[in-house]
Amino acid sequence: MTRTPLVAGNWKMNGSLALVRELAGALRDAKPEGVEVALCPPYPYLPALAEALSGSGLALGAQNLADRADGALTGEVSAEMLLEFGCRFAIVGHSERRELYGEDDDQVASKFLRAREAGLTPILCVGETLRQREAEETDQVVVRQLMAVVEAAGVEALERAVLAYEPVWAIGTGLTATPEQAQAVHAGLRAAVADRDADIAGRLRILYGGSVKADNAAPLFAQPDIDGGLIGGASLKAEEFIAICRAAG
Ligand code: PEP
Repeated sequence: MTRTPLVAGNWKMNGSLALVRELAGALRDAKPEGVEVALCPPYPYLPALAEALSGSGLALGAQNLADRADGALTGEVSAEMLLEFGCRFAIVGHSERRELYGEDDDQVASKFLRAREAGLTPILCVGETLRQREAEETDQVVVRQLMAVVEAAGVEALERAVLAYEPVWAIGTGLTATPEQAQAVHAGLRAAVADRDADIAGRLRILYGGSVKADNAAPLFAQPDIDGGLIGGASLKAEEFIAICRAAG
């Protein structure tokens, strides 16, 4: 089963209009081949980035979305608004949302459903804490996070979705799962989907995220069940991000 790799850059609450211009220009010039590339900036930069990337084949994504379509929800942004500004993807269930903003599995499932219903492709993040890894609960935790969504949305919802395995202890810490550790978790996630539907499991892209850099990306992406990356800090540096995209392509 061949799956087109995807590399998505999650800027988190970083960036500026200057970075929009710099990264879009560098990526347009570099044109990484054989890989789909998406940039997920903070909301206010979406229009400028959409314009700067127009016609380039590079995709836009959001880092979050509201779990409802409209209404009195001060500070929230709906899936439909993101579509209007050219987003194709929306990250849901990032560990920073789960940990810092108290998003639980049910809320993550609602956001996933909302994204799909509106026509966005959700990038669903799952991952274990260091304590959970040390207690050998990794597989149980990530499969529970995935199944909360599968139970709510049905396995067929994974047809237009991307999964990202992001060990919490590796995000922004400089610690990375070894290719073998990551591959083992990815294979377990794919097997859990295959229990419901083997064809969907075979087509599902599972990204790895957690301190991916230009110098550790290639062996991670060479693993059979790793289909690209969700990149935080390194997505803010043009050269580094382009090298990561090339490693996936
Ligand atoms: C992330 O925030 O999704 C992430 C993987 O961050 P970093 O690459 O900085 O660890």
